[in-house]
Amino acid sequence: MMSTSPLTTGKSYLLRLEHDGGLIEQITEFCKDKGIRLGRVEAIGAVKTARIGYYNQTTREYQFAQLDQPMEILKLAGNVSLKDGTPMVHAHITLADEEGKAWGGHLAPGTVVFACECLVQELNGDELNRAFDEQTGLPLWKN
Ligand code: ZN
Repeated sequence: MMSTSPLTTGKSYLLRLEHDGGLIEQITEFCKDKGIRLGRVEAIGAVKTARIGYYNQTTREYQFAQLDQPMEILKLAGNVSLKDGTPMVHAHITLADEEGKAWGGHLAPGTVVFACECLVQELNGDELNRAFDEQTGLPLWKN
């Protein structure tokens, strides 16, 4: 197990994301604009369509599902750290369809916002860098 040194809470921002814009794309752009290199993210709202990933641990590749239906964002939870020196948002999402049934997974680019209220909270402390991890095939925190 690895951990950072204790972190302190930095500035928090509430964002209203743009209708028809990309969900993770807008959050990432905001972090880059504000220079947020470490943080946490959460959001609620609704999407027009979604693209979610499932990491196949055998093939070590993401499998993506395209969900072309309006859905509620029950919860988006994620973090911000560095990959190749730039802020990367890693987020997972739980969505509900018209019947209240849940879908979920790794939030991928291409998920389109209907409306979204998002909290971005900056954390202060040592930088956290992602690098390729042999055991999993994923870009995990190394430092
Ligand atoms: Zn993920």
